Amino acid sequence: VVVGVRMWRHSSEHMKWNGTGSTAHFQEIVLERCYNYTQLVQPELRDRDCQKIREAFRNAFISKDPCSATEEDYHPLMKLVNPTVPCDKTVFWSKTKELAHQYTKVQREMFTLEDTLLGYIADDLNWCGDAGSYEMNYQSCPHWKKDCSNNFVSVFWDLVSKRFAENACGVVQVVLNGSISNAFDRKSTFGRVEVHNLNPMKVHTLQAWVIHDLGKFPSDSCSGSSINDLKWIIMQRNIKFTCQDNYSSGKFLQCVKKPEDSSCR
Ligand code: NAD
Repeated sequence: VVVGVRMWRHSSEHMKWNGTGSTAHFQEIVLERCYNYTQLVQPELRDRDCQKIREAFRNAFISKDPCSATEEDYHPLMKLVNPTVPCDKTVFWSKTKELAHQYTKVQREMFTLEDTLLGYIADDLNWCGDAGSYEMNYQSCPHWKKDCSNNFVSVFWDLVSKRFAENACGVVQVVLNGSISNAFDRKSTFGRVEVHNLNPMKVHTLQAWVIHDLGKFPSDSCSGSSINDLKWIIMQRNIKFTCQDNYSSGKFLQCVKKPEDSSCR
């Protein structure tokens, strides 16, 4: 009887959330990405202790209720890695992940959050544990909309996005999507977290580029109301705002991928 009860508890517990479970081989991936980044991508960070980073990452969420994450849970991890992006090199994005990353891949000295150590380690991964277990839950994790917003993945991205923005200086850029109706969305991480954590003492200009997909009709632009919203928020914060539609570097990257498009000739 005891065995039966335990098995039942086990399987029901593991399927209780609506989101995808932890990424298989999470620990190994974290360690491998950490070594790759600190030894090859940014060798200035070669002295970072990747074993410690992996351990601090795991300790942040293991054996805890996956819907009760707080910033404090990640403080030991944050202490091991401080963001260091040179002035004028920060790139934010919202609904333009692929394009922004293509851009920083070509423009090697520019940085999105995912070109910094913690963003690089965690990008596209999923993780959660369970109170009363030392294991990760590979079956399901809380979905940020359907289950709880204070899950460990959302709290992590909000925190690293905040730190990334706080540390930005000089001219900063954001790549926005002109093929959706609200290129700027107050509820996105960029609109909710990053914009409000730019330090006006350090950041003098935010440059937005609104890029629309090749062959698609533009749905929003620098003169649209969502960008006007952004402009207003930024100017209220004493930061200068500029905006460019279909910035030529962005266009160029899109054309490399799809040279046959009529707008690339
Ligand atoms: P976006 O709407 O394109 O979202 C980016 C990704 O984060 C999407 O996969 C989205 O599903 C997910 N996401 C957004 N809010 C979330 C939440 N509360 N919980 C869990 N997942 C969430 O663009 P955005 O929201 O403006 O975020 C992009 C900006 O914020 C970038 O500037 C970046 O610095 C940072 N960021 C990066 C990631 C990432 O996955 N690499 C995630 C969140 C935020």
